[in-house]
Amino acid sequence: MPAMPRVRKEPSEIRQPESAKQVLLAAPRGYCAGVDRAVIAVERALEHYGEPVYVRKEIVHNRHVVETLTERGAIFVDSANDVPEGERVVFSAHGVSPEVHAKAAARNLETIDATCPLVTKVHREAIRFAKEGYLIVLVGHDGHEEVEGTMGEAPDHIVLVQNPDEARTVDLGDPEKLIWISQTTLSVDETMETVNILRERYPQLQDPPSDDICYATQNRQVAVKKIAPQADLVIVVGSANSSNSVRLVEVALEAGAKAAHRVDFAREVDEEWFHDVATVGVTSGASVPEVLVQGVLKLLAEYGYTDVEEVQTATEDLMFSLPRELRKDLKAAGHKTSNKKDGADREHDLR
Ligand code: SF4
Repeated sequence: MPAMPRVRKEPSEIRQPESAKQVLLAAPRGYCAGVDRAVIAVERALEHYGEPVYVRKEIVHNRHVVETLTERGAIFVDSANDVPEGERVVFSAHGVSPEVHAKAAARNLETIDATCPLVTKVHREAIRFAKEGYLIVLVGHDGHEEVEGTMGEAPDHIVLVQNPDEARTVDLGDPEKLIWISQTTLSVDETMETVNILRERYPQLQDPPSDDICYATQNRQVAVKKIAPQADLVIVVGSANSSNSVRLVEVALEAGAKAAHRVDFAREVDEEWFHDVATVGVTSGASVPEVLVQGVLKLLAEYGYTDVEEVQTATEDLMFSLPRELRKDLKAAGHKTSNKKDGADREHDLR
């Protein structure tokens, strides 16, 4: 077992290492409220309705979570069209467009919508701004499920801009009303750079009423920025298709880490990375169960990195209630509708 980390609540000072080899463990890291809710929704659906429970796309972007739920009986499909007529399907935390809801209705599917409420907020903004006659710039990544879902709410009113380069060249015409919104899992700094370039070219560009980049994405970036300047190496636990995990690697490098790598599992950590490495930073994306971080810490301990300090830059206690459809059925059956399991540590469930 790796050594228990000392927790440093105040972000102001990170101590000098007592030994040559040290681990700085970022906090917050790992599961956010939206991921927690979505994963529990599939688990509770399997328990309550029994197999099969279909899930459109990966419920959250993490290989371990998807593999574990598959073993338990969840069937992951690419499209609502792949779900047999009349069966039950869970929509993932990344959200879906109205077209997907319509397809599911046409096939008489029972749906459980596990879209994160913070993604739903962006959908609502898109609908509202389109109704008010705005041209909407969506800052986000082409092909990401969340972007597909948001664009689907008002396809004729939204232009996707992916990065500062595209902000320099995109032709938005001369709209009187122009506003930007964003994907929830972007780099805060790069998004602001994109927006600032757009505003130089289109001074009428308005800001959304509140941040779209969610609290969990922002908190994990702040935490990794805190440890990165002292890290010879940062290891980010997260999957390749997890936007916020990939951003953590970029943010760590921009904040001064000498090297940064993303791994799904401890077994992907490469010994070659450790030449002349005294301090290793460790963090994880918002869809990553803590058990995977503990696996990396265990491996680091085997390499002699037993001195672990947790560097905490924020505390999180947000929790979302289970999807409405599931709550209704659980309540009707006399079951509890909280998204906490009785006395069980959910991290153990996903081992
Ligand atoms: S990363 Fe943010 S938007 Fe995505 S599921 Fe988590 S809380 Fe929701």
